[in-house]
Formats: sequence, C-alpha cells, structure tokens
Amino acid sequence: MITVEQAQEIILAHINILGTERVDILSGWGRVLAEDISASVNVPPLDNSAMDGYAVKFTDIQGASADNPVQLTVIGDLPAGYKAPRSLRNGEALRIMTGAPVPDGADAVVMQEDTRAEGTDVTIYKAGSKGSHIRRAGEDIAKGDLLFKVGTRLRPAHIGILAATKRACISVYQRPRVAVLSTGDELVDIDEEMSDGKIVTSNSYSLTALVKENGGIPITLGIARDTKEDLKRRLLEGLHADIVLTSGGVSVGDYDFVKDVLADLGFDMKFWKVAMRPGQPLAFGMIQNKPTFGLPGNPVSVMVSFEQFVKPAMRKMGGHTDLFTPTLEAVAQEKVTTRTGKKYLIRCRITCRDGAYFVTTTGEQGSGILMSMASAHGLMIVPEDQDIVNPGDKVKVQILDREFGFADTPDY
Ligand code: AMP
Ligand code: MG
Repeated sequence: MITVEQAQEIILAHINILGTERVDILSGWGRVLAEDISASVNVPPLDNSAMDGYAVKFTDIQGASADNPVQLTVIGDLPAGYKAPRSLRNGEALRIMTGAPVPDGADAVVMQEDTRAEGTDVTIYKAGSKGSHIRRAGEDIAKGDLLFKVGTRLRPAHIGILAATKRACISVYQRPRVAVLSTGDELVDIDEEMSDGKIVTSNSYSLTALVKENGGIPITLGIARDTKEDLKRRLLEGLHADIVLTSGGVSVGDYDFVKDVLADLGFDMKFWKVAMRPGQPLAFGMIQNKPTFGLPGNPVSVMVSFEQFVKPAMRKMGGHTDLFTPTLEAVAQEKVTTRTGKKYLIRCRITCRDGAYFVTTTGEQGSGILMSMASAHGLMIVPEDQDIVNPGDKVKVQILDREFGFADTPDY
C-alpha cells in the first residue's frame, strides 16, 4: 500500500493549473494572481502632512524652542483633499490637516501640540527637523514598482493596494469546479423521510462545505443508488467539472460498485488504498482526463481524506504554490497508541500556554464520529514508523481550525 506522501505526489502529478479569468478586485479576494502587478501611480500621490499642524519653511523655525519661540504669519487653513492657493514665503506658515498636500516652499510640518495660535499668527515652540511630519510622494508605493507577482494570494491589504493604485480588475486563476456525488442505498437528503435505517447524506454537505472553504465551486450530483446504472449516469454528469468526488462504495462490500463503474467509464486508476487511518479506502485516477477521487464513505474518513488529497489538488488547480495544510509543533498531553505501517491522523484540540502548544485527543476516534471532527482543532500526526505517543512528546499537528487560539471555542 502506498503512503500518504506517495499518494499526494501521484495526485499532484496529474493536476494542471486552471486557466485565468478577469475579475473585479473585490472578487479577487482569496484568489491567486495570474499576472504581475506594477504600480501605475505614486501612493501617496503628493507630499502631504502626517499631522494636524503648520507647514513651515524649516529655515524660519530652525532655532525655535520653548525658551526661544518663533512667530510666523498664518496665510490660511488647508484641509485634506485641497491644494494650497500659493507657495509659502519666508516668515509664513500654513495651517494644515493630516493628509493635505504640503504647499510649495514648505519643507517641514510642526505638529499642533508644539504651537500656539494667536489671531493671524502662530508661535512655534519646537523646531523638529527638515522634512519632519511630511509623508513623501511615493513613499508607500512608487509608480512603476513591481507590487505583486504571479502566484500571490490576495488578502485584504492586497485589495486595498490594488484600489490605491487604481486597479479595478485583475487576472486571477479560475476556481476549480468540484462535482460531489454521494453513493449508497441508505442515504436520503435532509428533507426526506428517515425510515428503515436510512441516514442523511451528511457527506454531501460536509464535502460541499470543504469545497467552498477551499475556494472551489461545488457542483452537486446528488445521491447515487448502489446500482451500476445510477452511478454511471450521475458520474457522467460530473465530468463537466474540473474534479470529480464520490463518497462511499470504494471498500470491498457487496455493493461497493464505485470502482467497477469508474472502470466502465474508462477510469485510469492510479492507486487504491493509502496507508493511513482514517481513510484507507481511497481510489484516485483519471476519467477522460478529469481527476477523480473515490473517497471513503465514513463521515470522518471522507473529510480527513479530502484534507490530505483533494485540497492540495484544488489548490494547485487554483494557482496556489503552498498546497498542504499547515502544521504546528505541539506537546502531547496524553498517551496515544497506534499500529505501525499506517500514518494516523488523530483528531485533537489545541491549547496555547506560555508560548507553547499542547494537544489532547477528542476522545473516541471511530471514523463515524463526526462530532469529534467538529470539536477538533487539528489532526495530530503519528507517522508510520511509530506506534506510541507519550505525554510530553513533541508531535506535529495539521491545523483544521485556524481560530483555535480564541479562548471562547466551546468544549464539546
Ligand atoms: P461505504 O464505504 O459505502 O460502505 O460507507 C461506509 C460508511 O459510511 C457506511 O456506514 C455508510 O452508511 C456511511 N456513508 C456513506 N456515504 C455517506 C454519506 N454520504 N453521508 C453519511 N454517511 C455515509
Ligand atoms: Mg455504501
């Protein structure tokens, strides 16, 4: 059986980056740039005041101090968003607000707290230095600067910078369209009746949410019954997507037809089964050049498998260069035993004390216990060659919930 890392390598070798599209910058939030961005303007556009105060000629106030104040004539009052009517002459000051352009002839701003206004005059009590409290044109961004390279993931600050440099539209990589098919005669949808041992297809919903969480466009293929005909019909519909996901039916049970049906459709299977727990039964291959994942049916296994395999594939398609779930190093707080030969991904909660992270398991690790997925902040990794974690051991943890540090996360 192949390892998780080998499986990831095989999958990623079959994933191509998608095409690009032009979007308005707000729609670009969270997306990945498909073009280099250079600044077409200076930010700020003009030298302007960093303080409410007085624009002055530095030579006029050079020696000013509390004991030796300097008096200047105030020629006007300049709010932000307006230009001074004329340049400053010797012996003059211009009252100026934060952000207002510094007038020609001025080369320093004295903050209001170091002055006193008296009629049409102002007394300066502190000299500062030449250029003080002036933000220079282009000091944030200079016209022509290369701002962001292809591959940059756009966060709110990037969107602000694009706006500040007058970019309304940008080219980004397309979002992967991911088709989600659940399989099983026992499955019903939320609004259907639950009799005779039926269960709601929670995987359809958790997978759809995962697709959304990872920037994809979910396409629902509904529930396929455990017959080859129904499976085939729905899978064919899914081939319009960029990635096809099925859940359930990939084990060795009497009604586990997914692999057979995939094969009928020309599935070029790259592997089946990965040495991991949960999530061992996983098939991956290509149908008509579409990466297709036969994910396990158990509600936890399907989510853990998505995190290891589908997410990196989606991220690669979407132009990301960092593909895998980030990990942190933590100290185990309880004993965990596993079996060698498989990589264990154990649901756990993370706490932070005195600058270190600590993990405790969420308890019962059955692959049907979806509540333990909801309460988990992360997945503690126990590598293949290890069969025990002792309290105090350092472990790696994949972060599932980036908000784990917030104290008010309820303890289920
Ligand atoms: P299977 O691999 O099809 O035998 O499914 C394994 C387990 O996962 C069974 O207990 C199924 O009932 C359950 N299961 C399969 N698909 C879903 C689904 N879409 N939602 C919730 N549970 C499911
Ligand atoms: Mg099934």
